[in-house]
Amino acid sequence: MSNLLVNTRDQRFVLYEQLGIEKLFAYPKYADFSMDMVDMVLTEAEKFAVEEIMPTYEKADKEDPAVFKDGKAYAPKCFHEPYNKLREAGWYAPLFPVEYGGQGMPKALQTSISELFGAANYALMMYVGLTLGAAGLIIEYGTEEQINKYVYNMVQGVWGGTMCLTEPNAGSDVGALRTSAKRLPDGTFSITGTKCFISSGDHDLTENIIHPVLARIEGDPPGTKGISLFIVPKYRVNDDGSLGEFNDVKTGNLEHKMGIKGSATATLNFGEDGNCIGELLGNEREGMRIMFKMMNEARLGTGMQGLDHGSAALEHAIQYAKERIQSRDMTSASHEPVPIIRHPDIRRSLMWIKSHVEGMRSLNYWTGYCIDMSEIAETEEERAKWDGFVEIITPIVKAYCSDKGVEICSLAMDIYGGYGYCQEYPIEQYLRDCKIATIYEGTNTIQSLDLVFRKLGQRKGENAKNLLAEINDTVAKCKEIERLKESAGYMEEASNALADMMMQIGTWLMSGEFMSPLINTRVFLMIMGDVVTGWRLMDAAKIASEKLDALYKEAGADTPEAQRDFGKDNVEVAFYQGKVASAKYFAANILPTVKDRFRVLKIADKTCVEVVEESFTV
Ligand SMILES: Cc1cc2nc3c(=O)[nH]c(=O)nc-3n(C[C@H](O)[C@H](O)[C@H](O)COP(=O)(O)OP(=O)(O)OC[C@H]3O[C@@H](n4cnc5c(N)ncnc54)[C@H](O)[C@@H]3O)c2cc1C
Repeated sequence: MSNLLVNTRDQRFVLYEQLGIEKLFAYPKYADFSMDMVDMVLTEAEKFAVEEIMPTYEKADKEDPAVFKDGKAYAPKCFHEPYNKLREAGWYAPLFPVEYGGQGMPKALQTSISELFGAANYALMMYVGLTLGAAGLIIEYGTEEQINKYVYNMVQGVWGGTMCLTEPNAGSDVGALRTSAKRLPDGTFSITGTKCFISSGDHDLTENIIHPVLARIEGDPPGTKGISLFIVPKYRVNDDGSLGEFNDVKTGNLEHKMGIKGSATATLNFGEDGNCIGELLGNEREGMRIMFKMMNEARLGTGMQGLDHGSAALEHAIQYAKERIQSRDMTSASHEPVPIIRHPDIRRSLMWIKSHVEGMRSLNYWTGYCIDMSEIAETEEERAKWDGFVEIITPIVKAYCSDKGVEICSLAMDIYGGYGYCQEYPIEQYLRDCKIATIYEGTNTIQSLDLVFRKLGQRKGENAKNLLAEINDTVAKCKEIERLKESAGYMEEASNALADMMMQIGTWLMSGEFMSPLINTRVFLMIMGDVVTGWRLMDAAKIASEKLDALYKEAGADTPEAQRDFGKDNVEVAFYQGKVASAKYFAANILPTVKDRFRVLKIADKTCVEVVEESFTV
């Protein structure tokens, strides 16, 4: 029976059969892991997600959101118990090295846990994610003293963490920030300024909150080059590790938002009374470079948000479509109403959602796997290759998965009809909760600018070439499989069109023609996202197809009718048939549009920028 959050059979397929996570355990870094352990972790994580986290989902949205009262911010009351259980049961920081209190888990495996927990309640998991992101920054760039002072309590979830970039007049343009840092005689800094929209900025889940804050040291140059990063605790920390005095970080308010209402989004005023002390993290004027470590991780986490909500919406929509009886089957003589899953349009919608969710799942887990492979790489060349995949895929994971998450939830709502729009079903909340993922962590437009203007040309285009080579390798293998031949043809055409479009962008940029790519960076990213998602699905279908051949042979199911009947009786056969169907559907319905959509980009119509601003009226 479905847990209504995530298809755990598909999780296992991606981890075990597609990525072959077991290969990682041959390396010393992951030698303590085994497949039995992975299976147990997934089973227990599912249980925890369903029993401890999921019950808070609707509650924190409708009755018990984060609130600001009498100058203090509070997380939902219902978050305290699962938050503490996450800590006590060892689910808080599985990815972190053992010496800091984590479990040293591979990223690919941790991604699957995070999908379960995020699908159960993303808003709750944001408190954890931001804390660990901030702790990771201190581990990588902090002094030994800073690590000892802050990290252990953060990795245990005793203290929280945030990321403080945005200001009222510095959103996408972080370089415009005004928060300032004044040198103090003891080497610390006095911080003054206002940060807005800070997730987990203030709440009562932890006894202290450690803010990494971007600010400009007085006298440093304008723009991003002059930005430094500071550790600014809500309460100062004494030398013996105990909590000291309040550090003049005042909460102005919490935002009233469309979704993720359990997440406390705060305006923070640093140094209103001139008494806020920050410690420099890393070198002066390297704040942006350092913060990018956390931002890149958070971008992958935000892409996961699209998958998490999309996955939960899919599971709910399948259940509803099987239960809801409405209208007759127009292909049958009977006038009896049928479950709506029998209507071809509902089937098409479910197939569209299923293929996207499975493709996004595989893409996210593969990205985790690339991070793992980079960490255990034995040569610099190998490491550069795996890092290169992560670099080029990060803006796509963030923007494609979050945009598709919204489309998925919207389509799932259509499957519910009018009931989907009403609060008695969770779809409307999934749709509201997932929308923010397209905006925060750098809007999806900012991601697409990063992809087109930075990532495509990185390492002289080597990362892009390596990705295309992986796709073409899958195409070649799928062409050898009769049931995937046609799909492989669509994939090949889409991959060639992508390579061609990348060349066109390169030509534009080299000739100083920036407007043509600038207008359409976001459109380009989404098309490239379709190509890589199609690739992950084709790769999965190749494996599923081999499994089906073996199962059919064993059962003597050698006609299409016998194989179809086999799928009706056997859940494993149905699962693999579903994997092949996802790839075939995506290949035949999405990939053939790639070439034409790129043709539109090549036309590079500039009407939107040529028309005078006044024509937009108002
Ligand atoms: C719920 C929530 C939680 C958040 N959490 C955090 C947090 O924890 N920490 C934090 O620091 N921030 C956080 N943010 C802030 C978030 O990252 C910003 O809202 C976001 O980066 C956009 O900035 P902005 O809102 O100022 O929009 P603007 O930067 O004003 O952008 C407005 C529009 O203009 C577009 N635009 C801007 N510049 C360009 C350009 N160069 N080219 C093309 N288009 C452009 C944008 O894409 C957008 O569509 C959060 C925001 C929300 C709503």
